Amino acid sequence: MNAATLNVCTGDFCNADCPFCISKLTGRRFLRQSPRWESKLVNACRYATMSGAKTAIITGKLEPTYQNCPHRLFRVIKCLAEHFPVVEIQTNGILLNRECLGQMADAGLTTVSLSAVSPLLEPNLILSENYRDPAETAADCVAVGLLVRLSVVATKQHCLTVGQAMQQVRQAKKLGFAQVTFREMGLPSGSLDSLPPAGAKVVQWITDNKVSLAELQKHLGENYQQLLPAFPWGAMVFGVEGVSVCLTDCLSPPRTKEFRYLIYDRDGHLRYMWDRPEAVIF
Ligand code: SF4
Repeated sequence: MNAATLNVCTGDFCNADCPFCISKLTGRRFLRQSPRWESKLVNACRYATMSGAKTAIITGKLEPTYQNCPHRLFRVIKCLAEHFPVVEIQTNGILLNRECLGQMADAGLTTVSLSAVSPLLEPNLILSENYRDPAETAADCVAVGLLVRLSVVATKQHCLTVGQAMQQVRQAKKLGFAQVTFREMGLPSGSLDSLPPAGAKVVQWITDNKVSLAELQKHLGENYQQLLPAFPWGAMVFGVEGVSVCLTDCLSPPRTKEFRYLIYDRDGHLRYMWDRPEAVIF
């Protein structure tokens, strides 16, 4: 089995309430942190690199910068940097500032992927009233030498037309984002019948607000160069006026013998699907 990335879940809490939070649908959100998390993480790194992964992504079903132990995130980054050339964090950015970004870069972080619905502050206030202005996060990342990407969850409000999406790319470029990823929202593959109210609310919100990226993909394909062959899970990357634009989805099951990711969970186990607890390796 080949894997493209190792995804590492490490946050203890979340400080946002994104209406599209798919973590509320896929379970195992508040797994007990393994007392042996560090040695298990080394095992996960070894397994992932032997499976071909070159990128580690600190992410999760909670916000990875929001932790009980202030030092754990830096220890995670250092451990990952010993095994992977690319170490990325996917974050809502609320707790970031230039000092902590500099410390993360010193520990070996290479990339910040900021989850958002827009490069502008105001639309992101639906994620949290404390959402940090993406302009500040981008400027701080650039100042400390980190690559910064805007990871846009495509919604009807801000990505309905090709024109809106292209405007987002141009705004993001102006702010210093080197990459923009547009994520099409989707629902997990399993049964959604017995969800708690919070999960049912997310399903309804995604159903009401999801938007297809097909038109944008057609526009980019006709007008810009595709920089890489399509990934096995369908993601595509285009060069657009100096910004790399990736189209992908929020949750895609493995479609070939190439797995999109391995997942190191808070309980110290390594899995290969977000939404199936049975999909465990060790
Ligand atoms: S920041 Fe992530 S984990 Fe938290 S509510 Fe938003 S999508 Fe969910």
